[in-house]
Amino acid sequence: MTQHILVLNSGSSSIKFQVLDLQAENPDEPFLSGLVEQIGESRGHIRIVTENNTIEDRRPILSHSVGLERAFGMMSMLGVGPQDLDVHAVGHRVVQGGSIFNEPVLINEQVKDEIRGLIPLAPLHNPANLDGIENAQSLLPDVPHVAVFDTAFFHSLPESAARYAINRDVADQYHIRRYGAHGTSHKYVSQLVPELIGKKPEDVNQITLHLGNGASASAIRGGKAVDTSMGLTPLAGLVMGTRTGDIDPSVIFHLAREAKMSIDEIDTLLNRQSGLKGLCGVNDFRLLQELINEGEQDAKDAYDIYVHRVRQYVGSYMLDLGRLDAITFTAGVGENHVGIRRDTMANLENFGIKVDDARNNNEAGVKGARVISTDDSAVKVLVVPTNEELAIARAAAALADA
Ligand code: ADP
Repeated sequence: MTQHILVLNSGSSSIKFQVLDLQAENPDEPFLSGLVEQIGESRGHIRIVTENNTIEDRRPILSHSVGLERAFGMMSMLGVGPQDLDVHAVGHRVVQGGSIFNEPVLINEQVKDEIRGLIPLAPLHNPANLDGIENAQSLLPDVPHVAVFDTAFFHSLPESAARYAINRDVADQYHIRRYGAHGTSHKYVSQLVPELIGKKPEDVNQITLHLGNGASASAIRGGKAVDTSMGLTPLAGLVMGTRTGDIDPSVIFHLAREAKMSIDEIDTLLNRQSGLKGLCGVNDFRLLQELINEGEQDAKDAYDIYVHRVRQYVGSYMLDLGRLDAITFTAGVGENHVGIRRDTMANLENFGIKVDDARNNNEAGVKGARVISTDDSAVKVLVVPTNEELAIARAAAALADA
């Protein structure tokens, strides 16, 4: 028995996808993964990877629909096209679900209209997500398509965390509030924690730290998110690869008035040229670490600023939650960078948080999720690999079967 689910993540110039077999022994290992990138550029790139084969195509890709169709054709050449695999459902990652979507939904015309209506809140992402949905629907019209929203997990935020202290009428008219992002990852990881620490889900107060290229923190009480660091958009909160995270909004007025920068220029500066990249020239944490090892002061400062911000959020969420049971690191940096876990958790013994060096270094070579705190640490510290594709695939399968 197989149950193949196609998971699509359509961005502005790329499409990433996976086929997962939910009936496989290890459903978290994709049966197939694909990448379509440099869409609309002079040179395109498509790569399909299966257990035994990798095939690539480097012809220009005129549009998303051309890219997806060609990728499906390449899969068919390998004998693993969507028809060969009898794809059961397609799960689409959608970045912004606004106040409308608090869980995954089966996509119909009304859902598409609502995703379209949310474009002003996610002008870069929702159009690409919608395009991905329409292209996939036209190529696979007889299969259920499901939208899984990055914001849905944060519908439970209390008003005190979700509402900004700006004029209520303006905020409501323009739908300005904290929607959060990375919700699929925070939910997936946080749901694994109770069993790992031997507690009932409803009894666990936890903080999840998704530290990848984008980065966010969430406070979760009994399975429900009560705060998160991303805001109206994924620009807020922690320092990221290329995004500022929190800054005083007056920086924007100052740049407009003094540097005569346009709104679009400031948008680009804060979203694409800031964060670690703006501080020391690189956004990839491995390169950052190399610069630090070479003694680059800007890189060391960038690292310290990053760590300081993570600690600020951990402290604030600890108070918010009152009692804390677990702190979990996930995503590329959180799962792999020993130093970040050590330094963000340093000197917190008085708060009941003690990381064990050997466990943090994974000297035992544990694969997958693990506890890295000492046995006497009141708060358990964990590393839990995230898997947004698996979460999306499961949600898609559940709705397809409903
Ligand atoms: P996203 O999905 O947001 O693109 P990821 O979760 O893949 O991001 O994380 C990317 C980040 O993880 C990069 O900064 C990368 O340097 C970092 N990373 C990946 N592997 C390692 C590693 N082995 N050691 C340190 N950092 C790593």
